Amino acid sequence: MAETEEAVRCTAVTKEFGTGGTVRALDAVDLTLRAGEFFSLLGPSGSGKTTLLRLIAGFERPTRGRIELAGRDVTALAPHRRDVHTVFQDYALFPHMTVEQNVAYALTVRGVRKPERTARAREALATVRLDGFAARRPDALSGGQRQRVALARALVDRPAVLLLDEPLGALDLRLRQEMQTELKELQRTTGITFLLVTHDQEEALTMSDRVAVVSDGRIEQTGPPLEVYERPATAFVAGFVGTTNLLRGEAAVRVVGRPGAYSIRPERIRLADPADAPPLDGERTVTGRIADIVHAGAHTRFTIALPHGDRLTVHRQNLAELPPTARPEAEIRLVWDEKDAFPVPG
Ligand code: ATP
Repeated sequence: MAETEEAVRCTAVTKEFGTGGTVRALDAVDLTLRAGEFFSLLGPSGSGKTTLLRLIAGFERPTRGRIELAGRDVTALAPHRRDVHTVFQDYALFPHMTVEQNVAYALTVRGVRKPERTARAREALATVRLDGFAARRPDALSGGQRQRVALARALVDRPAVLLLDEPLGALDLRLRQEMQTELKELQRTTGITFLLVTHDQEEALTMSDRVAVVSDGRIEQTGPPLEVYERPATAFVAGFVGTTNLLRGEAAVRVVGRPGAYSIRPERIRLADPADAPPLDGERTVTGRIADIVHAGAHTRFTIALPHGDRLTVHRQNLAELPPTARPEAEIRLVWDEKDAFPVPG
């Protein structure tokens, strides 16, 4: 049944701005969110993520196409008549109201009586671990606390879908990571469908059940994070999601041994002494020079210069497994499984 399984469906949604459609922000986008999933729209700045969110919220109308919520056509419906709330990056709290009044706002507008309002606002505040902050005003809160108030306010009347537009963008890295964990927990405990907009691939990959990668107004690929990472459908996805070695044309023939376009993830390449035994069946090897070594926290990044000007990036975590000859300017052998050089169309 559409009512129970599909939270959001966008069909051939196009959005143009300007006279005569000078900017096409979205180009025939199809997107389906299942009820209760944590879904992210991941893409670079200007790719159309926010526009899609605003269309689903009802702040904008599509130029063409159709938007359904829980199986119902809402394309022409006003925002307040959709069972959806949005959390913005700047929180948009009312400065003259207390935390509790901010959180209860949607209920006040709907005429819910005070005792129930208070009870539900307190419950929402407890959900985001802000019990005891009800009487404060927003200017007496930290950035992370304000973000939680914005979340509580959006959750207070239990929308079917919560739209989150770069909600953690204003927070420092540490707080951001804490809030990522909290958001994910919140989604799991409430069972509400979350649609998160982000340009941060790590955020999208770690938090989501599924991700859609957006580029230039189109969805390039939709799938679970691991699938998008391991099997990118296009060269854009391979390059945008994680770091990769993209080899095309002559470089593919030289390095991979086949024509076409291929992606090899840096952590899939091993380093060996050139004097070591030749590779096994199903393995591929090339020899190059170590041009650079950078210790980047969890892994060490090697830049290897191959003959003909090709360069490969290699990530290794365990430095103990490296050949002792792995020093800057040294000759080194690169080895990978042939199946780890996967073809990327587009
Ligand atoms: P960011 O991550 O920077 O917020 P985004 O992926 O959310 O980017 P959008 O804000 O959806 O991208 O913008 C997509 C395209 O549509 C951009 O080229 C943008 O300039 C254009 N655009 C968005 N809103 C309008 C508008 N109201 N009028 C004209 N052009 C617009």
